[in-house]
Amino acid sequence: MAEVYNWQLGRKMAYPYEESHPKWQFAFVFNINRCIACQTCTMACKSTWTFSKGQEFMWWNNVETKPYGGYPQFWDMKGLKLLEDANPGKQVWDVTKKDGNKRPYGVYEGTTVFEGALKRYGPEGHVRALGYIPTDEEWRSPNIYEDTSATPAEGVPEKWYGPDAASVLPEHRTWFFYLQRLCNHCTYPACLAACPRKAIYKRPEDGIVLIDQERCRGYRKCVEACPYKKPMFRGTTRVSEKCIACYPRIEGTDPHITPDGVPIETRCMTACVGRIRIQGLVRIDEKTGDWAEDRYNPIYYLVKVAKVGLPLYPQFGTEPNGYYIPPRWAPRPYLRQMFGPGVDEAIEKYVAPDRELLAVLQLVRSSQKIIFRYEIKEGPKVFETIDRATGKKWEMYNDTVIGYDKQGAEIIRQTVEEPTYVRPDVHFNSI
Ligand code: SF4
Ligand code: SF4
Repeated sequence: MAEVYNWQLGRKMAYPYEESHPKWQFAFVFNINRCIACQTCTMACKSTWTFSKGQEFMWWNNVETKPYGGYPQFWDMKGLKLLEDANPGKQVWDVTKKDGNKRPYGVYEGTTVFEGALKRYGPEGHVRALGYIPTDEEWRSPNIYEDTSATPAEGVPEKWYGPDAASVLPEHRTWFFYLQRLCNHCTYPACLAACPRKAIYKRPEDGIVLIDQERCRGYRKCVEACPYKKPMFRGTTRVSEKCIACYPRIEGTDPHITPDGVPIETRCMTACVGRIRIQGLVRIDEKTGDWAEDRYNPIYYLVKVAKVGLPLYPQFGTEPNGYYIPPRWAPRPYLRQMFGPGVDEAIEKYVAPDRELLAVLQLVRSSQKIIFRYEIKEGPKVFETIDRATGKKWEMYNDTVIGYDKQGAEIIRQTVEEPTYVRPDVHFNSI
């Protein structure tokens, strides 16, 4: 295996292919705190790409209820168990080695799906990534345990769920949250690593990971290797399929939906009524493979500067390009195992956002076009309060945030205080 640099792990790791990086990378940030599990994203994807015969159980985008839900069921627990079996008790982070936005979470000292595979031989010999094929039953119920809360977490102090909880609320004693999932178009895709036909490729222009339907022979090695379980086998065609990141929209080449040629966000993103999703393209430093400094790209800002967007299970080692603002009410140990050691800092920043973060969050779902750059014009202070949990002062400014598309044209201008419109002379009647 070659050695590649994984900035999320803060170190080099083994991967079957040499480093080679795209110019831009498809990436997204989801604010879990706002999701209402309406599944509009899920249906937007389904009605666009997976509505045909043989795709009945195929949900490229799904929203599952954590901790019990999962599509396929148990995907996360089974994946984590494979790491544990390969390297018992050693999946830990050294947070003393945190270093700005180069090593934002410290150094992961455990094993990845690629490193664990070096010790494992399957029935057919050496495997390239630890994995397993889910059963038909596990794929059957995408929404299993929806809205089912966990039993009260042990050790949560009473002040967090007792009479004062409404004003403090660091964690809820019974809890659940929604996890929105699609292919992460990983920097080091396990699906690509495992494919014996070299049918999977990562596009140099935008980092989107695709399966060549002509080359695929349906061996399902990608289904087995992807720790997020996002490639799916189609019985009618006998080949595997996965999220294609709505690439005609990202390219800006669809004459009907992007007549001016500027990239627009995917179907699942633009349909989001909860305004939790923002997707974009980040520039990649082709030498290091890390994100090139692009301070005013909203995705770069949320992940690398504000550090509120965190990768999902970075310990798998694929360097996923989906990022999540963790839910503030769920137990921290659960969140840390899911999003790594950046959880506490991310929640602290999100619950009391500074001026810039509050303004940038206003860009989420403000436009269908991909925002490549933002600018903030300062406005007056409109509110201040004292946070009862920390005793710190928090101030709100009515700044204006402006978003620009790839060609530098202004596409959105929005104030922090959301305007309210009252329609005059409305007389309701249900007929
Ligand atoms: S999430 Fe899975 S299918 Fe998507 S690129 Fe990563 S390894 Fe491949
Ligand atoms: S559309 Fe948005 S709010 Fe609704 S389930 Fe999907 S991510 Fe959540």
